Amino acid sequence: MTVSERVAAEVDRATDEIVAYTADLVRIPTVNPPGAEYEACARFIGNDLERRGFGVEYIAAEGLREHTARYPRVNVVGSRRGGPGPVVHLNGHFDVVPAGAGWSVDPFGGVVRDGRIYGRGVCDMKAGIAAALFAAEAIERAGVRLPGTIEISGTVDEESGGFAGVAYLAEAGRIAAGRTDFVIIPEPLNVDRICIGHRGVYWFEVSAHGRMGHGSMPFLGLNAIDGMGRLLQIVREELAPALAARTTAVPVVPPGARHATININGIDGGQPVDGIQTPCVADLCRAVFDRRFLIEEGFEAARSEIAQLVSRAEAATGVRFDVRDLMVVHPTRTPADSPVIAALDRSMRRVLGRPAQLVASPGTYDHKHVARIAQVPHCVAYGPGILDLAHQPDEWCAIDDLINATKIIALATLDLMQAHRDN
Ligand SMILES: [Zn+2]
Repeated sequence: MTVSERVAAEVDRATDEIVAYTADLVRIPTVNPPGAEYEACARFIGNDLERRGFGVEYIAAEGLREHTARYPRVNVVGSRRGGPGPVVHLNGHFDVVPAGAGWSVDPFGGVVRDGRIYGRGVCDMKAGIAAALFAAEAIERAGVRLPGTIEISGTVDEESGGFAGVAYLAEAGRIAAGRTDFVIIPEPLNVDRICIGHRGVYWFEVSAHGRMGHGSMPFLGLNAIDGMGRLLQIVREELAPALAARTTAVPVVPPGARHATININGIDGGQPVDGIQTPCVADLCRAVFDRRFLIEEGFEAARSEIAQLVSRAEAATGVRFDVRDLMVVHPTRTPADSPVIAALDRSMRRVLGRPAQLVASPGTYDHKHVARIAQVPHCVAYGPGILDLAHQPDEWCAIDDLINATKIIALATLDLMQAHRDN
């Protein structure tokens, strides 16, 4: 048997353990917000890594506002050193979005049925954490001498930006160029797709300032909500069609997300609707927008386009506007010749018998922190689970996908450590 065959056979043999481990993770309701049960989950992963012989560190996001006594932000990193070869870091976030309505099973029950594991966060991305852990375990059980170092981290808050999670590890130098060679994030992008990045994000808040007046004589005031209405009209009638006409060469999936987009996240103006009403012209209206921009557009262009539309709405209404940047994430793209893409592609051909499809994610994920803060360019997302099921009711992951992804991650890890040359 070749090394790959031995490793793959160990993954198959561990199927029940991998499923049980995934279901156990699902049963820890690490819901974000607010960031519940993080420490319990970090300890669960850390204790398991320790039992398997990993050196384990717990890294709490000290100094960040969201790291509180009630909801501590605790990350865990395990490492197993082999030879002097490269460091391959497998990172999974263990926070999950709230269950929401519409479930036919207990979202935190860890239900296994008909070849699937069900639960909130099972595909996004607790199955991915299990795949990372058992990829390392299968290499060990196959008796393969590890040519490099394998690291496995479980991190917090990816769903809310990852600042206390991967960004924190990167700021602390725990994931860093010179220390970390390759990063694979087992997010659910489908078992035969490698995710090489994402579009840019520009979240901004627009405030429209009118002038208070008596509601019976609105012509003596200046209604901020009307001003915002004008801006929304310009956005809907002019900006949205212009954005839809811009297409990126990056293979974003689904195809609808291959264009620039804008969404209005929220709006708030005038008197609170549930409060006692008085006859007043609204003097303030605020809205938050989510603009996804393409690598071809760039941030500065996207931002100045917004500024121009806002000044047109201002000129047309007399309402004064200001714009406040809330969050900027630059587009990220793994270099096309990155060894991490090639290693996963080779492993996929071996395990699935077909080449990898390269895709980019419609939303952002922790890749951005690895690329920008840690300055590690060789990062991709690859893991089990179907992208479209993430954040849905009755989220599930197919056991077949989980097993195949575990094999592919194991073989790619060895390949990246360059000891695995038995094609
Ligand atoms: Zn995720």
